[in-house]
Amino acid sequence: MITSKTVVQLADLLTKKEISAVEIANAYIDRINTHDKKINAYITFNPEKLLIEASQSDKRRATGSELSQYDGIPVAIKDNICTKGMKTSCGSRILGDYTPPYDATVIAKLKEKGMTILGKLNMDEFAMGSTTETSCYGPVKNPHNLNHVPGGSSGGSAAAVAAHLAPAALGSDTGGSIRQPASFCGVTGMKPTYGRVSRFGLVAFASSLDQIGPLARTIDDATLLTSIISGKDTKDSTSVAPDNAIPETITCRDLKTVRIGVPEEYFEGVSDDTKHALSKKINELDAAGAQIVPISLKMTEFAVPTYYLIATAEASSNLARYDGVKYGARSKVAQNLDELYKLSRSEGFGQEVKRRIILGTYSLSSGYYDAYYLKALKARTCIINDFKKAFESVDIIAAPVVPSTAFRLGENLSNPLEMYMSDILTISANLAAIPSISIPIAKDAKGLPIGMQLMGPHFDEKSVFEIGKTIEKDITPLIADFM
Ligand code: GLN
Repeated sequence: MITSKTVVQLADLLTKKEISAVEIANAYIDRINTHDKKINAYITFNPEKLLIEASQSDKRRATGSELSQYDGIPVAIKDNICTKGMKTSCGSRILGDYTPPYDATVIAKLKEKGMTILGKLNMDEFAMGSTTETSCYGPVKNPHNLNHVPGGSSGGSAAAVAAHLAPAALGSDTGGSIRQPASFCGVTGMKPTYGRVSRFGLVAFASSLDQIGPLARTIDDATLLTSIISGKDTKDSTSVAPDNAIPETITCRDLKTVRIGVPEEYFEGVSDDTKHALSKKINELDAAGAQIVPISLKMTEFAVPTYYLIATAEASSNLARYDGVKYGARSKVAQNLDELYKLSRSEGFGQEVKRRIILGTYSLSSGYYDAYYLKALKARTCIINDFKKAFESVDIIAAPVVPSTAFRLGENLSNPLEMYMSDILTISANLAAIPSISIPIAKDAKGLPIGMQLMGPHFDEKSVFEIGKTIEKDITPLIADFM
């Protein structure tokens, strides 16, 4: 079946001319039309546009002028990444009719290779959440069990890849939003080093933490996509050009040369099923010759408050631009300017976004700044130092991604604090700006996927991918049998 092929497999079939871009597009159009009603992964899907682009790709290949071997392969995109001429809503009413006049740099890079945009994917509003239930387009369902959430905020991206509604997708990760849904949906999700991928055209949530990355069915596909979208960009001053570019293809790493750190703090409060799956995998790595090193990341307990102070402070500043005047949907019932601001924001933002703006505004306000925001910045430095020290004695850190498997729909919605606490294992990698991947390794007793997290030193994505590929080769893919 075309829709069960990976990006690498599709490229091979296209190169051998055993398949056309139009056939790939039609296979996905059929599948999305049949199954997305159950999953709700797509916010925007335009089959006519997709078919036009696919036939243009086929024409290029027919004349030997294809842009790359990936020309004609469709990739689905989280709806906070700007796509020229295609709605980019961020899952929010306030951007409900926003169509960007430009492409994000990552989109331009995909298009340079001839890759097409399959559609725009559902997400938590402004990427704030861990379940994709805060979207104004309704919740996404987990393809492994439709009564459970796919995780968030890139829940649409993870569910689409898991349900074979896309060969691969892009998501964004501010505090775990690629890795956590990847873990919940049994796919591979990579958050690159902060600065590796341009954020130009990514609608900002927390600018010092946001990073774009791929969700895919294999490490090879995740590597390829990270390689394509990464690189210095003059339009994003925080993007960098390290000497070690990410190659398009990688090989397995010999585990006998690898020191794997296992942080004890990452196993506290973790469910038995997840703990068991991780321990089993770590024992296997040990048996395969890796050196397993128990380590301590002592600052882990401060990660949640540190993240929720910094992320909300940055969000309150970033979201100030949606005022219904310069930017964002305007209230139709406002009688004067004051009401226009108030009503546009009250009507346009959902509850979770409002909560974050208020929290962030509070911690940045005079009198509270030093006690909250400044203290969080200091704690962030301690978290960075924790990792620096750890990487003096290990090459990579292995840990669970989330303390549990996918929540039931609605389970955590009324308890924001509980929801924030569940991010404890992913947010430190954002605060420390290091690369981190989630790889599916097992299922729990209920059949829900469990992921393993691998965190590497700054700009050492190559090690993360190579070691990940070695781990992946012994794992049977976790198929979502929702049909
Ligand atoms: N769940 C976290 C939050 O709600 C992470 C979100 C993200 O990475 N975008 O902030």
